[in-house]
Amino acid sequence: MCGIVGYTGHLQAAPILLDGLSKLEYRGYDSAGLAVRNGEKKTEIVKAKGRLKSLAEKTDNGNALIGTCGIGHTRWATHGGVNDTNAHPHQVGKVTLVHNGIIENYGLLKERLAAKGYTFQSETDTEVLVKLIDSCYTGDPLRALQQALAKVRGSYALAVLFRDYPDTI
Ligand code: GLU
Repeated sequence: MCGIVGYTGHLQAAPILLDGLSKLEYRGYDSAGLAVRNGEKKTEIVKAKGRLKSLAEKTDNGNALIGTCGIGHTRWATHGGVNDTNAHPHQVGKVTLVHNGIIENYGLLKERLAAKGYTFQSETDTEVLVKLIDSCYTGDPLRALQQALAKVRGSYALAVLFRDYPDTI
């Protein structure tokens, strides 16, 4: 079982996200990652296979990631091996996502998205989900989520960042 945390506020997000993930370590995981909004446009993503300690080392305990809004994830792989490519967050276009659980019909959704021109780098059901949300997004996050999730079968929890909404998870 993986873990999801989010923070938006006035403090630097990454150290708080790492602290939150450390409280979820007992649930078990094989890799971890953070996405933090750095200003209006940029969402910085850092991932690390293995212990949370590696993610903390890569980010100077979170201090290297500037920004006050972000999401964090500890992964327990169900679809695809344990590596940085498959680790969350996953991002496409304006959408960045972490996901807990399983998208049962990801194969069919992947075929449909590939027919629309999407390509896939990871082996995860999660990458299918973020691309499905991107394909539904025309500026209204809730509408995109409703449309995308209406097509999804499975059991899941998500935290999502949309580039057009810098302080919102
Ligand atoms: N199914 C997703 C994956 O394999 C999420 C697994 C989880 O809940 O950590 O990446």
